[in-house]
Amino acid sequence: MTQELVLQYLRSHHDQYLADLTEFLSIASISSLTQHHQDVRSAASWLCERLIKAGMTNAHLDETPGNPLVVGSIIGDPHRPTILIYGHYDVQPVDPLEKWVHPPFAPAVVDDVLYARGSSDDKGQVYMQLVALEAWWKTVGTLPVNVKVLFEGEEEIGSIHLSQYIETHQKDLRADFAVISDTPMFAAEVPAVCYGLRGLAALEISVTGPFQDLHSGVYGGTVMNPAHALASLIASLHRLDGTVNVEGFYDGVEVLTEKEREAFQSLPFDHDTFLDSIGSPSLFGDPHFTPLERIWARPTVEVNGIWSGFIGEGRKTIVPAEAHAKITCRLVPYQDPQHVLDVIEAHLKSHCPQGVQLQIHRGEGDPGTKTPLDHPSVLAAEQAIEDIYHKKAAYIRMGGSIPVVVTFQEVLQMPTLLLGFALPDENFHAPNEHFHLNNFYRGAETLALLWHYVSKKDGLQFRDSTR
Ligand SMILES: [Zn+2]
Repeated sequence: MTQELVLQYLRSHHDQYLADLTEFLSIASISSLTQHHQDVRSAASWLCERLIKAGMTNAHLDETPGNPLVVGSIIGDPHRPTILIYGHYDVQPVDPLEKWVHPPFAPAVVDDVLYARGSSDDKGQVYMQLVALEAWWKTVGTLPVNVKVLFEGEEEIGSIHLSQYIETHQKDLRADFAVISDTPMFAAEVPAVCYGLRGLAALEISVTGPFQDLHSGVYGGTVMNPAHALASLIASLHRLDGTVNVEGFYDGVEVLTEKEREAFQSLPFDHDTFLDSIGSPSLFGDPHFTPLERIWARPTVEVNGIWSGFIGEGRKTIVPAEAHAKITCRLVPYQDPQHVLDVIEAHLKSHCPQGVQLQIHRGEGDPGTKTPLDHPSVLAAEQAIEDIYHKKAAYIRMGGSIPVVVTFQEVLQMPTLLLGFALPDENFHAPNEHFHLNNFYRGAETLALLWHYVSKKDGLQFRDSTR
């Protein structure tokens, strides 16, 4: 069987993969520091050349006003499904340097764990994608699917030029779905398909009263204190059980299916370990949902900061002139960010106490994203994981956002499969970042099989028309 040849190839090249990855990880591609500007470009060139060597002969750098993108495609047969692979070759800064046991850009292997900045986030996983493609080209000569790659060098600084690029290169990038390996598995030996992310909506509110702070002895008791007014407004946003008390806030929120609830329930999640890891005395939140359901599939309204009046040393007996708060909401798929901001704005206006003025500054909003559990990409990933890890794939979501996934959904109308093989405690963005090599090798095999299973699936409608 052809896929057996591919797996054999992957299993017989471990030494070469480690040597190449060591080279890639030795390049200090820190995008946030101008002194590493040349290193970032070197990493892009290294990746591009390695892609060409693997078999993606048209791989090239596409310049942006910032760091270049590494792009390429192999469209073998337009009747086959087309996949876009996204990843990033830039890394986070390394300070505090003295906390690193091995220097961050001198990769070291200890007990089958590879230590280096970028090993798991994300150069190691980008390279894992590359070798999965290469194994097909070097053995079978062709991939069972069409593939496009998009690797950026500005992910760690907010992907500042990426959405503009995607807007102007829609035809080049469009595919049946995107695959990203830049997330962790649920836990060690719990490989996972991540199929949903939460979105975000932000606002700032200001409550103002008198034109300046007032002497509380002279004026206290005669006017509404803006700090009190803000506190009552914020308190009105939630019920005592933690659910959101804003009319219309839950409009569009999808009901979790039994399959999803069972999938989440089956995961090894321990409440005490969770609480210990953050130091809170107890759990709190909507009693109708488990903590994992609340993090992954329920929306929130969260006050991120409040400020007002005098907070210096000693006391200053005033009625403050103003009070402010920053608020963000985590949104779930199908909740419209603009609608959420509308209903919160209406709620705040109707609950604002008399005697103060309320200003609301609406911020940006991004919807949550979701790939349906019966999407061919999810089913193919499930099969590939089962073949390599010999266990059922976990279905997970993430409570945070990945902006590029929103862009893929909004601009390219395509879903994203988040299939990462790092572990949650591999120190992304921190000293001693590492990647377990057995997950690198099994991840590459899983991806190689993914392309096989995707090619067997019906229901992928997109046909590449760029040829
Ligand atoms: Zn990353």
